[in-house]
Amino acid sequence: MNHIIIKMSKMKIGIIGAGFVGLSFAVVLAQKDFHVILIDKDVRKIKKIKENEPPFFEPKLSSYLSKSLKMIESSSNFELLKKCDIIFITVGTPIGKNGMIDLNNVIQVGKEIGKKVLQSNSKPVIVLKSTVIPGTSQKILKVIENSWNKVGKGFSLVTNLEFLREGKAIEDTKNPHILVIGGKDGIANKKVVNFYQNVYKQKIPIFLTNHETAELIKYANNSFLATKISFINQMANICENIPSASVDDIAKAIGIDPRIGKRFLNAGPGYGGSCLPKDLQALISYSEKLGELPSLLKAVQKTNDYQVSKIFNLVKKNLNGLNKKKISILGLSFKENSDDIRESVSIKLIKKLIHEKLNVMVHDPMAIQNTMKIFGDKILYSNVIDEVISNSDCLIIMTPWNEYKKLNSTNFQKMKNKLIIDTRRLFKNRKIEGKYFAVGMNLMKE
Ligand code: NAD
Repeated sequence: MNHIIIKMSKMKIGIIGAGFVGLSFAVVLAQKDFHVILIDKDVRKIKKIKENEPPFFEPKLSSYLSKSLKMIESSSNFELLKKCDIIFITVGTPIGKNGMIDLNNVIQVGKEIGKKVLQSNSKPVIVLKSTVIPGTSQKILKVIENSWNKVGKGFSLVTNLEFLREGKAIEDTKNPHILVIGGKDGIANKKVVNFYQNVYKQKIPIFLTNHETAELIKYANNSFLATKISFINQMANICENIPSASVDDIAKAIGIDPRIGKRFLNAGPGYGGSCLPKDLQALISYSEKLGELPSLLKAVQKTNDYQVSKIFNLVKKNLNGLNKKKISILGLSFKENSDDIRESVSIKLIKKLIHEKLNVMVHDPMAIQNTMKIFGDKILYSNVIDEVISNSDCLIIMTPWNEYKKLNSTNFQKMKNKLIIDTRRLFKNRKIEGKYFAVGMNLMKE
């Protein structure tokens, strides 16, 4: 056993894509004494990593990165991957303009691996960790073979999806709830399983399957989570029409049923982020391409889109005219403990508000820099919560950061017009002066 551990620890691991998935994986492996070659085409990102500066905010990442730097060689040069035993692909797989998954990044990486990495004497296992629609692993295998020009000799491809949550990326990478491994080359699968068994001393369920099923498991997982959120949001909307009904109590009660489970039943402004919206959309387009009507998935998407319109309509309905009114937004990132604003509902709401020429001022503990890249001087920003609330006509709490949970009526004293829309029910048990509306509760009071 000791012998295997020593051998595995000497493995060189390549990771292509230094984003939330790739960088979190790199620092966790480095902490376990693996030598990691981390490749990203974004030279600014690589420069930051080399300078010990995390390119995005993620709890614990900063301290993990500084402790790991000596074990991570970061670069934009694919040739450095030549000596790696296993190469993980963790590049982004966004939605293209046509609503279908855009596979250009993974295809590009496949070509680079074929041209610059594979050598006759190296037999790396290529592991596709990016979220991709069924058939992509086989497609990338062909791309690599064609670029390498030595079909089928010396490398294998394994599909191995990632399930980490932003805001808990390090924690989840250290302790994944499952390892899904898909492929048809038993030896390559075994190599990846052995590698993980060496990384994780604790027992993690390993699920072995084929490429296509592995690819689809990730979509099934995220679509189901999105469905749970849309379901509870629809319940929340029903509750709003029933005096005293509480969506939180409903979520608690049904969550105790083991067939349902308590997670992802938090009603709110709708789901956002870089995964659920894009993965649901990719599955919808894929399903339509197959000729299967994704009616449930589309309803989930529609229910989610409705939440932001509902918040916007509340603003419109309760302000006496919109002209030049000041709207204060607390929370920009799609979830707390993250600076990620991709598909954030806050960003969608701000777009609607500035379209109506409202004056918007925003606060977020981590995501202001990213938001500035979208809105520039079209909105106002502040790091001071009270400054954002002061003189406001309407305050909207979007992201449940801890600092917002501490607010009370004193903080709202300086509002011009006390309309408070609490999409996370942070103040549901507090006495709030003015018009207070909490998503999922029949609580509009003056
Ligand atoms: P990200 O956007 O944070 O990072 C992707 C990185 O890949 C970027 O730094 C980009 O510069 C790099 N890249 C893109 N094309 C490249 C190329 N041709 N060569 C080298 N580098 C390239 O993405 P992420 O959030 O880490 O997600 C990566 C994949 O993992 C996606 O498929 C995503 O769906 C999936 N995933 C993400 C999460 C999450 O919570 N973020 C969770 C599970 C799975």
